Amino acid sequence: MKVNILGAGPAGLYLAILLKQSDRRHQVQVVERNAPDATFGFGVVFSEGSLDELERADYESYIAITESFASWNPLDVRYWGTLTRIRGNVFSGIARQELLRLLQDRADRLGVELVFEREVRSLDPYLDADLVVGADGANSLTRRTYADRFRPELGQHPAKYAWFGADFAFPVFTYIFKETRWGLFQAHCYPYAVDRSTMVVLISEATWRNAGLDEMSEQESLELTQAVFQDDLGEGRRMLGNRSLWINFPWISCASWHSGPVVIMGDAAHTAHFSIGSGTKLALEDAIALARALARWKDDREAALTEFEMERQPVVERLQEASRVSADYFASVQRYFRFQPPQFAYQLMTRTPRITHNNLTARDPQFVREFETWFAGGDGRLVAPPPAFTPLQLREVVLANRIVLTRTGQGAGLVVTSLVAVTPEGRIDPETVLVSDLAPSPTGRGRGGGEEVMISLGHAGARGAMRPRSLGLDLPLPEAERWPLVSASARAYAPWTPVPSEADPAPLIDQFVAAARRVRELGYRLLELDFSRGYLIDSFLLEDRLDFPLQLLEAVRDVWPADLPLGVACSSDSLEAVRAFKAAGVDLVRVLNGQRTWDARTEYGRMYGAAASDRVRNECGVQTIAFGQITTVDEVNTIVAAGRADLCMLDPL
Ligand SMILES: Cc1cc2nc3c(=O)[nH]c(=O)nc-3n(C[C@H](O)[C@H](O)[C@H](O)COP(=O)(O)OP(=O)(O)OC[C@H]3O[C@@H](n4cnc5c(N)ncnc54)[C@H](O)[C@@H]3O)c2cc1C
Repeated sequence: MKVNILGAGPAGLYLAILLKQSDRRHQVQVVERNAPDATFGFGVVFSEGSLDELERADYESYIAITESFASWNPLDVRYWGTLTRIRGNVFSGIARQELLRLLQDRADRLGVELVFEREVRSLDPYLDADLVVGADGANSLTRRTYADRFRPELGQHPAKYAWFGADFAFPVFTYIFKETRWGLFQAHCYPYAVDRSTMVVLISEATWRNAGLDEMSEQESLELTQAVFQDDLGEGRRMLGNRSLWINFPWISCASWHSGPVVIMGDAAHTAHFSIGSGTKLALEDAIALARALARWKDDREAALTEFEMERQPVVERLQEASRVSADYFASVQRYFRFQPPQFAYQLMTRTPRITHNNLTARDPQFVREFETWFAGGDGRLVAPPPAFTPLQLREVVLANRIVLTRTGQGAGLVVTSLVAVTPEGRIDPETVLVSDLAPSPTGRGRGGGEEVMISLGHAGARGAMRPRSLGLDLPLPEAERWPLVSASARAYAPWTPVPSEADPAPLIDQFVAAARRVRELGYRLLELDFSRGYLIDSFLLEDRLDFPLQLLEAVRDVWPADLPLGVACSSDSLEAVRAFKAAGVDLVRVLNGQRTWDARTEYGRMYGAAASDRVRNECGVQTIAFGQITTVDEVNTIVAAGRADLCMLDPL
């Protein structure tokens, strides 16, 4: 087989090695624009487990690479002038130049034809081969040439970053967060040789402009950045530049990776944000999968390329998703700057759903034990409950644990009812409980058991007069059985639901106030007002009419005892509204984002509601309940400990 590979980065070189290794008769040529010893950038990092596949694929290059590794296990977080060390995170670093040199040597010895210093300007001269591989990086000419077939989606992360080096080895992987008069600077630093480290520095676009970096030369930018981190570098130590330009991270994904004899791989086909350190790993694993598929489907190139794509795309998509979460975390990390150092470090470690409380405990039991003690009140006890079982005080009410359920008698710290209608017209369906039919509080009658019940008062608005939910969502009752509907304006919730009339706000306030009084008389100590999911009050918020929900809230707060907590269920779409609710005396926000309009599409996934709760809690400074596919106590521990929520609704399985 004749193979032309464009680009001698990790992906192109490793594929050439694997093809030659599987069959020496293959004619493999790799064309690269740079000289063999040219290097842009410093070191690359591999996380634990990345290398098992390399060991199996080509033992010789695996040994050469791993012998050149700088490896370390702890990870340091420098924040507020403190240092938190977390163990059990095995990483290895290697100079990019060294990695490429080892791969070039191995390819050369196997008989790969390596052509350096040749810029590919058109693919035409290379199309005479059985296979043409675009391993030509993030700005791939191959991908651009076949854009109509690969259908790339390109984007940019809003933050700026630049890749620097340092003239010494940081002891371990180190995150540094530095507040300056221009804004936050963060550096992700890792050693890759005895006297060298990589420092990837991230800043927001605003910080970049405030500091004047948009107008500085490369040398001036290096000097300013070094001055910011000089304390962490240590006296006399320097940062190094090498085409260290401030850019936005490019998001790349493609609907297809092959067309006829042409296939793309590595950064040409997809990128994953460097904060999860996986770009080189993905490039090498692509090479392994492609070489394996070609060996299996010797006489059927189309089958081989299809198999390659089918095997790799889901893996890459998963990593891209985790890397997006990680990139967003670092872009909004300032939100957590009121956290104490242990919680800041915990939050950083668990920023993607891949690492949970259990997982972190396995990595560093001592860190987690000390964290749990701190979380439970920090009195230095050796044994503390895990975060999910740490009590929470809301005004005078103490919840026994952080778990929220919808049924009593199951051991939750808090039970939240379904919407309890303030009037018969406010019912969702005939089965909706009316406040006038509510039974007295089980806790109030002394049943207790540490389980508090929160009544969620609401009015269904345009989503009322539906058939019971068990028959389907938003299916109107037959006309004869319907009751009159009201909403912020005379607009139906969905094209197939009845048009409501415009609500008169004044009597509604009286109805909510009377209902709140009744809830208190029945002995309940927690009350929530449902401002979510397109129901009546949310229909005002959807029209940016915050005044009425606020008046209603203030009127209820006035009659609800000052020593008892008041909650609101609402979406995270308007942080301004949440801040106003908090100022009006709300203690707890249940963040519910779905169903605000009939055609809203929620991205469902594991713990999908945690990010929205995090935004509300940490941008508005209010306690929250997270909701959305939280199914294990381990997940509750993780969300609560990381400060993404104060309570979690556990999904019944
Ligand atoms: C700031 C930063 C930090 C990173 N840190 C890490 C890390 O810690 N760990 C990690 O695993 N990954 C890291 N990466 C990602 C990593 O560098 C890439 O994901 C990886 O190099 C992809 O390999 P590749 O072979 O697909 O592409 P590349 O390494 O980009 O190689 C493509 C090659 O093609 C050549 N080429 C392109 N066009 C042409 C042309 N027209 N003619 C001839 N030659 C051409 C280029 O010169 C280049 O040598 C980082 C990236 C950045 C930007």
